[in-house]
Amino acid sequence: MTSISTNLQAVRDRIRAAAQACGRGPEEVVLLAVSKTWPAEAVRAAAAAGQRAFGENYVQEGCAKAEGLAELGLEWHFIGPLQSNKTRQVAMHFDWVHSIDRLKIAERLSAQRDVHRPPLNVCIQVNVSGEASKSGVAPADAAALAQAVAGLPRLRLRGLMCIPEPTDDPALLAARFGVLGELRARLAGEGLALDTLSMGMSHDLEAAIAAGSTMVRVGTAIFGERRQA
Ligand SMILES: *Cc1c(COP(=O)(O)O)cnc(C)c1O
Repeated sequence: MTSISTNLQAVRDRIRAAAQACGRGPEEVVLLAVSKTWPAEAVRAAAAAGQRAFGENYVQEGCAKAEGLAELGLEWHFIGPLQSNKTRQVAMHFDWVHSIDRLKIAERLSAQRDVHRPPLNVCIQVNVSGEASKSGVAPADAAALAQAVAGLPRLRLRGLMCIPEPTDDPALLAARFGVLGELRARLAGEGLALDTLSMGMSHDLEAAIAAGSTMVRVGTAIFGERRQA
């Protein structure tokens, strides 16, 4: 378990170096620890090492961890594909949802969010890789979806999220991440200010930070290689 705290420190160091390399402050980039497939003990170890925000992809697994570890006061982010029959559990157990890609899901989450809790923070997932990826709204449709989601009462639209296709081509990666920055600027011009760009994972967080990421979602570099399901 000590390797989790060692890995966490290494990831924090990478974030700091990447931010400094492009003249940004390390505090501008939040680290989200993606704990999917790992047991609650792994989350406890990361929490003991100072990590507060955790990302989960699977509804059942994520809700069970959030509930079982409630006394730790952690922040839970749902980052996986979300079907409409699972929105109620997500609205109940999570603080953030990064994977909004259609209005129907957002409307259900808003209607199901407990009125006694703070609004659910959400990001619009944008498909920046075209046909290479299935999830996310097309960039051309993202602004309209963002405006509609921003009007929902029990949600707070925080930003945009993307998962580029895996690539070792730095120019391609910069272009993919750049789509989110351009969209955010366009929405700001339309009067919709967003504070979050959720982009960057274990293998590409430096490129994402250079392109303006404010939240990196890191699993493997903290917890190790996941077993194939
Ligand atoms: C699994 C996952 C991550 C973390 O990926 P790593 O390569 O393990 O860092 C980040 N974002 C999403 C949406 C994921 O599904």
